[in-house]
Amino acid sequence: MTAVQTLIPITFAAARGRAHGPTVALWHAVELHRPEAELDGACELTVCGSLARVATGTQWPVAARDVCSACAALTR
Ligand SMILES: [Zn+2]
Repeated sequence: MTAVQTLIPITFAAARGRAHGPTVALWHAVELHRPEAELDGACELTVCGSLARVATGTQWPVAARDVCSACAALTR
């Protein structure tokens, strides 16, 4: 048995943040360290440091315009 530890590329899931006062709900990026199936609607720490609910089945980057600019810059 060969135990080759391959580098798993970090993938990102899209998470929908909550609206905060005048700020609208934005799409954030969440680093995926676990299979996406385990993140079933859970609140995760986003790349920019806020909490957002992971939208399973939605891949980052999202094709939306209301995207968190900090997450977009950090995942580039
Ligand atoms: Zn963000």
